[in-house]
Amino acid sequence: MTRVLSVAPECVPLIKTGGLADVAGALPAALAECGVAMRTLLPGYPAVLGGLADTRSERRWDDLFGGPARLLQGRAGDGVFYALDAPHLYDRPGGPYQDADGRDWPDNDIRFAALCRAATDIAADGAAGWRPQALHLHDWQAGLVPAYLRGAMPKGAPGTLMTIHNIAFAGATPADRLGVLDLPEAGFTSEGFEFYGRISTLKAGLVWADRISTVSPTYAAELMRPETGGGFDGVLRARAEDVSGILNGIDLEAWAPPFRSPRGKRRHKAALRAEFGLPQAPGPLCVVVSRLTHQKGIDLLVDALPALLGQGGQLIVLGSGEPALEAALRGAGDLYRNVAVRIGYDEALSRRLIAGGDAILVPSRFEPCGLTQLYGLRHATLPLVALTGGLADTVIAANDAALKIGVATGFTFAPGDRTALEQALSGMCATYRQPDLWARMQKNAMRHPVDWGASAGRYAALFAAIAHR
Ligand code: ADP
Repeated sequence: MTRVLSVAPECVPLIKTGGLADVAGALPAALAECGVAMRTLLPGYPAVLGGLADTRSERRWDDLFGGPARLLQGRAGDGVFYALDAPHLYDRPGGPYQDADGRDWPDNDIRFAALCRAATDIAADGAAGWRPQALHLHDWQAGLVPAYLRGAMPKGAPGTLMTIHNIAFAGATPADRLGVLDLPEAGFTSEGFEFYGRISTLKAGLVWADRISTVSPTYAAELMRPETGGGFDGVLRARAEDVSGILNGIDLEAWAPPFRSPRGKRRHKAALRAEFGLPQAPGPLCVVVSRLTHQKGIDLLVDALPALLGQGGQLIVLGSGEPALEAALRGAGDLYRNVAVRIGYDEALSRRLIAGGDAILVPSRFEPCGLTQLYGLRHATLPLVALTGGLADTVIAANDAALKIGVATGFTFAPGDRTALEQALSGMCATYRQPDLWARMQKNAMRHPVDWGASAGRYAALFAAIAHR
């Protein structure tokens, strides 16, 4: 077995704000079948410390970025976790990255530098006799690990794989934080971690990790282009040979539909309509489960709503995020009787929506992989998605060619284009009016492989290639 330490800022079942947590949570079990023994290091947020069982203390730091800290080992579900218990950094109300009002914690740079330092110390010394041969680094929060390893372990360091879940988060912090972060001044160049005059912890990872991956093949290609590379396209092109696009999967058991065939959906759809006070309607019942940010294209959807509602469609949105988008959605909910909006984060409701909806809408401007369209496929809830990133890699559009050979699973449109979205909504409603065709697409969708199988194999091969023996 190859021993791998996953260094993650969030992980199911302990703490989640988005897809990264699902991926970090699902990989250890998926990889166990491919010869990889993965353990996960998380910040000791209250939810993490409270959720771990059988904890024991494995090591201590007298002063880790401004306060004492300990490393705890524990279990959650089938997973083995290390939690960095550092109260001065993590013991506070609010979210992993932001306070309750949605403002980034001002000390986020050292909060995650500490996580990286702890990972480096585990790599160097092991924890209770367990020493990783490779490290899996998730996003900017884990980006400093390769930089710290270079200092701490010039020889014999474990291999590192840096995974980009979303290039939009650079982990940027002012240049004068070099000393605080314990980074070498020589690294502050355009070939190192300098990023438009600031330090980028993501860039440190991209420059010095042994390998780089991202969460879909199309996103990997998009990241190398100036328009979609978030400022990192040059760095990534320079390392093109080391970059892989590995599609996310989902945990089939955790996301098993509560029915065996699409017919079983009816009961759940009726229950949803009742729950939200929606009338019967001739068009598809569409659902959205999303963070409400500019990335997710929710504003486009609000503008395009008449194209859906005019054909008898309905919409239920569950999400939270930017106040302006929340307000726009609330406004649409007040204006249209066939639109219902629930602002908030609610896992149980998200499952009811995905089970009961006819279609799930993902109108993102960009989307590294996207998970909700995968849940949709598994639940015969046909995805309507923007043709970008992992959405393009997972949904087969109902065009003539795909319909002819019977493989269509959903509907697509050009990202960021309101007119194209309106056309796609119209096309979806027209398809819905052909029940046989819709039912065939539902069967295709449920058959579409959305498990971790092939992707877990690709991760395992990467870890085997970089593992320190
Ligand atoms: P991202 O990571 O950019 O937010 P993904 O589609 O990769 O997007 O993952 C989002 C995850 O968070 C999915 O598991 C989705 O179901 C979940 N999610 C997003 N918003 C909510 C919400 N308001 N309530 C419950 N689950 C949500």
